[in-house]
Amino acid sequence: MQTITILGATGSIGLSTLDVIKRHPDKFDLYAITGNTNVLGMIELCQQYKPSIAVMADEKSAQQLHEQLKTLGSNVDVLSGTDGLLQVCSEPKVTTVMAAIVGGAGLQPTLTAAKHSKRILLANKEALVMSGDLFLSAVAESNAILLPVDSEHNAIFQAMPSSVQSGGALVDAGVEKILLTGSGGPFLTKQLNEFSQITPEMAVAHPNWSMGAKISVDSATMMNKGLEFIEAKLLFNASFEQIDVVIHPQSIIHSMVSYSDGSVLAQMGQPDMRIPIAHTLSFPERIESGVKPLDFTQLADFSFCAPDFSRFPNLGLALEASKVGQGATTVLNASNEIAVAHFLNRKISFNNIATLNELCLEQLGSSSPITLDDILELDQQTREVALGLISQL
Ligand code: NAD
Ligand code: MG
Repeated sequence: MQTITILGATGSIGLSTLDVIKRHPDKFDLYAITGNTNVLGMIELCQQYKPSIAVMADEKSAQQLHEQLKTLGSNVDVLSGTDGLLQVCSEPKVTTVMAAIVGGAGLQPTLTAAKHSKRILLANKEALVMSGDLFLSAVAESNAILLPVDSEHNAIFQAMPSSVQSGGALVDAGVEKILLTGSGGPFLTKQLNEFSQITPEMAVAHPNWSMGAKISVDSATMMNKGLEFIEAKLLFNASFEQIDVVIHPQSIIHSMVSYSDGSVLAQMGQPDMRIPIAHTLSFPERIESGVKPLDFTQLADFSFCAPDFSRFPNLGLALEASKVGQGATTVLNASNEIAVAHFLNRKISFNNIATLNELCLEQLGSSSPITLDDILELDQQTREVALGLISQL
């Protein structure tokens, strides 16, 4: 029996995780769920899934949740703020933490889970991009287990031999390349001169996947693939040259591993996050996820091409940052979070997301943070610089 905390339970990945675990009451016991400000969503989840604890990161929302649950006669305990998030990640009876908070806000809870030797199901790629080796060292030092939920990394993990799954070198296992696939998002073939007219509604309408707003915009700019490149480099201890990005618009192949004998192993499935979620929940076993297998007789096209860096400058910025080092990836993650939030609020244009990221990298990208405090300070400094630059754009 695994006892689970779901960070970001009110979000897209959080809800999919609840959908998978409710199918297996004999295997998973829900201890805590966390959210930020969505009180109504949290009340519904408390009533349906009856966790022991519900945490709202936002203090006011926690107060509201507490009062409303009391009125409803619920006995779910409510905690609040960073302390509440850290408490449900360090609680001794918790075996497993689904890390599905969006953005850098997820770093400290996820790192706490690592330090407390939990089985971490990692959806929150920003936490890893932002802290890199510091996070991986915390996992290694405490013998925590880190399993990738991001569909590409989960696919790569599944296509790797067990030696690499448990931390061995790619070359020793005969791995030549990781082929990181991406759909190219909604603007793969849009006229470049129309990019300045892209609205938040157009950007969040992903052709294949249903996801939270931030990752949907990242998919539209292809920053998502850039963050995933950095994530893959870290998770599989790969060099820059060992990873290629391949565009595959249908999102049926979720990524591939190419071996020295010419074999290429792919993981395929419907574009539904319950597949990688179920895989990480049950690894090394398999459980039912609620997703139907593919019917290949019904698949029309299966196409591939190289990414176009002039169309998606954010992808190039991320690849470059991955070469420069931790400072650059911390800066890029923070500036991108500010840029995307301001694009979603109609304060900057779609094209200015990349402009802002580039300016922040120019100013701060050569920093070299070492400790957690260095990383958090650089993250904060970048957010302030980005806000200043936005007012001048
Ligand atoms: P979402 O926006 O749907 O949900 C985000 C969750 O984080 C919510 O529960 C929200 O309450 C919580 N949250 C937001 N800000 C917070 C804060 N400051 N403090 C505490 N909690 C906060 O996002 P999502 O699509 O579920 O994505 C979650 C993570 O998973 C992201 O890092 C994303 O990149 C990654 N991911 C998502 C998908 C997908 O299909 N949705 C696929 C791969 C990876
Ligand atoms: Mg992904």
